[in-house]
Amino acid sequence: MTSPSSHQSLLDVQSLQVAFPGAAGDVRAVDGVSFTVEQGETVCLVGESGCGKSLTALSLLRLVPPPGRIAAGSHIHFDGRDLLSLDEPSLRSIRGRQMAMIFQEPMTALNPVLTVGDQIAEVVQVHTKRSRRESWDDAVAMLAQVGIADPPARAKQYPHELSGGMRQRVMIAMALVLSPRLVIADEPTTALDVTIQAQILELLREMRERTGMALLLITHDLGVVAEMASRVIVMYAGRVVEEAPVDALFANPSHPYTEGLLAAMPRLGQEQERLTTIRGSVPPLGALPSGCTFRDRCPHAFDRCAVEEPVLYQVGPAHRARCHLVQEPERRTDVNVTANRVERAS
Ligand code: SF4
Repeated sequence: MTSPSSHQSLLDVQSLQVAFPGAAGDVRAVDGVSFTVEQGETVCLVGESGCGKSLTALSLLRLVPPPGRIAAGSHIHFDGRDLLSLDEPSLRSIRGRQMAMIFQEPMTALNPVLTVGDQIAEVVQVHTKRSRRESWDDAVAMLAQVGIADPPARAKQYPHELSGGMRQRVMIAMALVLSPRLVIADEPTTALDVTIQAQILELLREMRERTGMALLLITHDLGVVAEMASRVIVMYAGRVVEEAPVDALFANPSHPYTEGLLAAMPRLGQEQERLTTIRGSVPPLGALPSGCTFRDRCPHAFDRCAVEEPVLYQVGPAHRARCHLVQEPERRTDVNVTANRVERAS
């Protein structure tokens, strides 16, 4: 848990649990996750698919798909308000207006039968007293801000008439049109080619600098983290396993899982004949090993790891890792966490 203080974070998540009913009782897909996001900062939530990062994001908007549910004892405060106790109308007024989400695949998030201008204008009309005409003008102005050429004409087009990169710009325009204080972006560039990815990330960074919004960026890509993050939260099997300022994480990764993610990251300008992967795969949530949940994949695992679940140990200022090696560094072996290597697809 983040230590209590009189300082109020923009977003404060404490002991978040998301549970799904399973044959042998509840399975916790998100298990005791705590973190904060401050006004104007970019925090990256990182991990492989299935680690709980997208569910964590959906929880913030209370959009966990049933039969999943946010379990009792979870706390989510946004700007001092307890989101889990709000009624639906109050929550709707926060969603979109103060906290907005950008999804991975704009084609599924945009309405195919409405023009993109109408979709952005609708967001304005639902949340403000702006007239239809004013909302349309806001939509066109926002399309210009996200770098879409000839916005009056583009606003009259349907999503299928735009390229993937342009659709993602429309999603960003829709998320930002009401100047929210927090934007949650779930793998916003995954479906795009590399050049467009870089442009979209640059746009998000620019918009953050221009508006002062905070950005919670969910990604499996440590290249994106290096470009964007001020702080990083690494998740594995529904838990936070490491959190650190971005420089500290890259300079001194302290959880073997983070080390594995870093070793698997392709490096620009370095000829790599092979890419590394972390050996093994994420265990099913209903069948996690005792002690440390990363134990089956960890080359450093020792007897204590099987019997005692690690907590988040302090590594340095604002840097914590859920690994017994922080307390017993002499137990570290010479074996690299990325024991399996795969040929790079050319
Ligand atoms: Fe590996 Fe043990 Fe650390 Fe878990 S606690 S990551 S098994 S060394």
